[in-house]
Parts: sequence; C-alpha cells; structure tokens
Amino acid sequence: MSSYELSRREFLKLSGLGATAALISGCTANLQKTVWMEPYVTPPEETLPGEDFWFASTCRMCPAGCGIVVRTSNGRARKIEGNASHPLNQGKLCARGQAGLQLLYHPDRLTQVLKRTGERGSKQWGTTSWEQIVDEIAAELANMSSERVAFLTGRLPDYQAMLVSRFMDGLGGEKPIVYDAQSVLDGYVLLQAATQAMFDDKRLPVFDIAQADVVFGFGANFLETWLSPVAYGLAYGAMRSQSGIRGTMVSFEPRMSMTAANSDRWIPVPAGYEGLVALALGKIIVDERLGHDGVADKYRALYKKADVGAIAEQSGISVEQLRKLAHLFATAHHPIAVPGGVLAGQLNGLDAIKAVTALNLIVGHTGDHGAIFLSPAPPSRDLMQFSPSSFSEMINLIERMKAGKVDVLFVLGANPVYEIPEVLGFVDGLAKVKRVISFAVIPDETTAVSDIVLPAHTYLETWGYELPNPGKQQLIVSAQQPIVRPLYDTRDPGDVLLALADKLGGQVARRLPWPNLVTFIQTRLTSLQILSGNITANDAETFWIHWLQSGGWWSQDTVWESPNPTESFLNTPLQVNEPTFDGDAEKFPLQLLPVASVAFGDGRHASLPWLQEMPDPTTTVSWDTWVEINPQTAASLDIQDSDIVKIRSPYGEIEAVAYLYPGIHPNVIAVPVGQGHTELGRWAQNRGANVWRILSPQTEPETGQLAWAATRVKVEATTKRRLLPRLESNIGVDRAREKGHLPG
Ligand code: SF4
Repeated sequence: MSSYELSRREFLKLSGLGATAALISGCTANLQKTVWMEPYVTPPEETLPGEDFWFASTCRMCPAGCGIVVRTSNGRARKIEGNASHPLNQGKLCARGQAGLQLLYHPDRLTQVLKRTGERGSKQWGTTSWEQIVDEIAAELANMSSERVAFLTGRLPDYQAMLVSRFMDGLGGEKPIVYDAQSVLDGYVLLQAATQAMFDDKRLPVFDIAQADVVFGFGANFLETWLSPVAYGLAYGAMRSQSGIRGTMVSFEPRMSMTAANSDRWIPVPAGYEGLVALALGKIIVDERLGHDGVADKYRALYKKADVGAIAEQSGISVEQLRKLAHLFATAHHPIAVPGGVLAGQLNGLDAIKAVTALNLIVGHTGDHGAIFLSPAPPSRDLMQFSPSSFSEMINLIERMKAGKVDVLFVLGANPVYEIPEVLGFVDGLAKVKRVISFAVIPDETTAVSDIVLPAHTYLETWGYELPNPGKQQLIVSAQQPIVRPLYDTRDPGDVLLALADKLGGQVARRLPWPNLVTFIQTRLTSLQILSGNITANDAETFWIHWLQSGGWWSQDTVWESPNPTESFLNTPLQVNEPTFDGDAEKFPLQLLPVASVAFGDGRHASLPWLQEMPDPTTTVSWDTWVEINPQTAASLDIQDSDIVKIRSPYGEIEAVAYLYPGIHPNVIAVPVGQGHTELGRWAQNRGANVWRILSPQTEPETGQLAWAATRVKVEATTKRRLLPRLESNIGVDRAREKGHLPG
C-alpha cells in the first residue's frame, strides 16, 4: 500500500494495532515523509460531500485540558466545540479553544525544517530534510558531554513532557526546565508549595465553587484565565443557580477583573495586602468562635501574631467591615476561600496563599460540598503529571548559559526571549550557547535567534493524552488524536525525540524504546483497561477505539480527597509580611500589575486574528496595549484617556495607551500581557507593548517563583495620543481601522 492511499479510517484503525503502527504517517521512527498533499479530485473514502464528521480530542490552547469535538468536512477541520461527555468542561469551550482552527490554518506557520545560514538573528535560513537534521543533531549529541545539554519547555501536554523527561534522563543530562508564563501568572508553583506546607501533599488544590454558598476570591481570576477557566466558569454558574439559593461572591483584589465584576462585592485591596486581609478575617473568626461549633479553637495558634487593627489600617478596610465579612463567611453553610492569581505575584505570595487557604479549615468545612479538595493523583505510574519548575531554576539555567556551560539548548513550547524579564539577560546567555534548537508552530522571538527550527504539528494534527490538573471529582485521562492529516512537513516533537533516541542508541534508546508515538501512548494506556470507568473493553484494540470515540477515559467514582493539615502547620502562627516592591517609592510611585489576557493567555496566542479582534471583557479594547489608571491618579499626572504614556520601571520602559478605569486601586496600574511581539506572525508583530520586558527579576523567597507583580513604575505623559479600538466608545473597531490603527 502506498502511503497516500491510507484513508483516515484506515489510519485510525491501523493505529489501534501496535504491529502495524509503523505505517502511520507522521509517526514513524525514521521520520520518513508519508503525507501527500493531493488535489481533492480523488477525495478520501470517508468523505461525502455535504456530510460532516466529528472527532473527539483535547484542547491545547491552554494547559487546562478541556475535551473538544471537531467538525470536519471534505477532510478539513471546520469548527471546534466542547465535548459534552467530557467531565472537565461538559461541552463548554472558551474563546481561545474556539480559535484553535486559526492556529491550524495560520498563513505564517512553519512548514519545513529551517537551518540558519546567516548570522544568528539575521533570519537567513536554508532548508533541510527531517532525516538529515535528525542525523546531524544525533551526531552532535553523541560527541557531547551530557551536562552541556539543556532542555527548556513550557507546560507541555503530559505525553510530551514524559518523552522529554525520559530523553534527558537517558542522555544523563539535567532534568528539563519547565517555564510556563501562564502558570507563573496563575501562581501554580506557590499553590503547590502551600499545599505541601499545610497538608504534606504537593497536589494542586481544587475549590468546589459549584456547591459553595459563599465564595471569597483573593486574586484568583477564574472566570478569565486562572488554571482551568472553563471548569471554574461552569462551577460559578452552578453556584449562582443552586436550587433555593443564589450563592454570594466577594472578590478581594486591587483591580476589578471580570471575576470581581461578576461578584456581589468587590473590595479594592491594595496590591499585596490580600493575604493580610485573610489573616484578619481568620483572627476574627477564631476570636469570636464563629463557624462550626468549637472548630475554630483548634486553629487558635495560627492567629497568635495577627493584629486586626493594624491590618485594617494598612489595607484601608475598617475593623467593622472586616467583622461583617468574617461573619458572612463563617456563618455560611458552605463557604470557600480561593487564593491565586495576583496575590501569588507578590513577594509575600506563598504566605498569603496559606492565610487564604486556612480560612477553609477554621470554619470546619473540609470534605464536604463546596469545600477544598486535592486534585486527583494520576491513576498509574505510567501516566504522570508534570509541574512547572521554580523560576530560580530558570535563572540558574540563564547563569549556566552565560558562563558558557551549555552547548546545546532545546526549546519546546516556550518563548523565553519574549516572556522573561529582560534584565535577566536570557538573550546574552543564548549568545554563548553553540546550538539552539527550537520546536515551534509559528516563528517567534526565540526561533528568530535559534540555529535550527523544527516545525511542529498543531494539536489538531497529532496524538497525545493529558491528565487535567487541576482536575475534577473524577480521574480524567483526556485523549488527543489527529483531526486532519498534517498540512505541512511538520512532526510531533515527541516523534522527533523517539527518532533521536533510535539514532543515539544506548541508554537514551532504552529510556525511549517505542517505534512511534502511537505505540508509546498505547503502552501508557494499558493500565486503564482494568480500571472501572467510562470504557469497558476486553482487549487493547477495543479500548483504543472507545478511547478515541469518547475523547478519553474517566472514572465513574468520585475520587476527591480532603486535605488534612499537618501538626507542624497547626502549631506555627501564620505570618504575612507587608508587601515590598522593587524600585524606589519616590522615583517609581506606582505598582505595576501585569494582567493575564483572556484572549492571549501569557501572550502565546497574539498571532490569532480572532483573538486580537475579541474585545477585552473589562475594557472592550482589542488589537492594542492599554494601561488602566485610576482617574484620580491620571488627573494628578495630567493624563487623559487615550494619551500615550511611558511606563518606566527600574529595568526599562514601554509605551501604552491610557485607559482611565475607576475599577483599579489608585496606587496600582494594570497592563495586559500578550502584545509587543517582534515576531509571531503578521497579526502579532509590532503591535502594542510587551510588559514582561520591564519586570523586576525578584523571586518569592521560599519557592524561588517570579514575583511578577512586585515592580514599581513611574507613568509619564507624552505628547502623543492614539484612540484605542474600543467597543464601548463611539470610535469602535471599524472606525479605528478606517483611521489606519488596524490592518486591512
Ligand atoms: S480553558 Fe484552556 S483548554 Fe479549556 S477550552 Fe479554554 S483554552 Fe482550551
């Protein structure tokens, strides 16, 4: 059978059989090119004009791992929807999930292997074949000391993360550094560190908002971007529509996010004081013995050092108001306090998360509806979840690079040149690395200064699996399958690593013994066949077919576990220091709050025009970078709406358009992340400003995580003005385009 005769039905059928899997296009160990672009004169056999086919898979537009179904017709993917059977998102999908099609069909996609021919950064490239490049990289690695090889990744899907981890282990190199800017903005590492310190368990906490009757949110913007926004959005909807009651929500944060705007009350806490406010609420609950009978007494030691009067003064929230809030929380049947997001970006972020989480304990409300749980552990050792590294490990890598200790750097799923504070000198470090090898779908700032660029499949063109983390009540292993044949001469990075391992032999080949990605994934799933779940199958082939049809495997039983506080946590008084910020308060009087973008996340999706065009839900701005300034602060600086201002930190400056916003604390300005790309395709390039550039490199002392909200800035008016494309104003997107502010 010649490869182009392989229909998609056969493709899926064959992939169920390990022995024949080597035939599969795009998945062969020797990376032979078997995908043919052909005219539609002879359509694939399953194609019927006018007939749609739907395939289940997993969204990879953020790490949450929602289930999707994709409508295809005439061999092309047409529409992405949520998978109604998937326990995580139950048929719902966010805007980023919908926009996955634009990643697949993006006109600036990398289509073949590129090898630098000019100076690094000159973007002069030659092309070569996959076979040649694999031979070349393998030869280089074979002659190199393993400690001089480094692998930097974003938060990869779990199947890829496992392959990368085993690859580096086989080489005998350092473990991969996982830097994911979205996870940094979510406070992922700090949440893990807090559960470790409080419950001696490193799993992420899950907050059962759906069944709570009072929700106190401390910086966690879960209706936009935080951790798993579709799942939490569903939970929010359920909380508001429980029979007989409408849950109450109060948000404590310096800027009114969309989550705060959907709350019953927004309490504008100065940046970095959220944890102190939680401490004061806890102290009142314990002192007044509120909550379930006698429970608060058990936690008295935690609040020995808390001073409600002092916190009231520091935070600007009166003692009386704090008392009312404490009573509202402690007298509810199912109250829950949720920490994360902006409070995790402070130097006191870890202690703040502990103080908020402790509120859930002192009202005696764990292991019940609307309580805090731990995300389910993977069902077997074959299916591991991978977590981000701390930022101090990233700094360590940069230092090694600068010292000339890294000869080969692989980059996969991350764009460090764009999303790391410029002062750390990642680009200077890169200049000392002999060979930079980047995998990417669309050329970005990091591929521009690489030596070899390996074009990757999109998630709609390849196999995989994902264990959503944070998860739900059930164990979930979400399936990913190719929806369409790869459009270009791209590969899944996992397949490239398998091919490299095959060439290198020895310990790497022993750690990665699979002939192709499909065989690897099938071996990972074997353990699921004997577990009780949505699939009943007596053999591997039947299991595989049902796995693909359903979009994954999930347990039927509820597996949530309640966390138990350790003795050492209970006996150590909680302490949250006053926040400190990098920069002289006189020279830099304002605090800078970078805001994760509901459209672009940490910036990776600025390439997609649907998401550029989508109005920000709070400001209604699209296609630009704005800075939110309290009108009172703007007046004191003589700044008007639509003025272009300079935002200067001790580490650099950017320009943005002023957006006067009453929903922000007067001491704070907020800038959305995501724009300001010099690469990333035609719709992202040279548009707006990159706020990551000017951030302080300070890290939270215990976890080493980037304190991304601890930078002071100065805002200065310029003589320039630019009207923002705002849906809410009478200018609007179309007139802004007429005026030349937008392309086309
Ligand atoms: S929350 Fe993330 S995984 Fe879910 S649909 Fe949105 S982008 Fe996709």
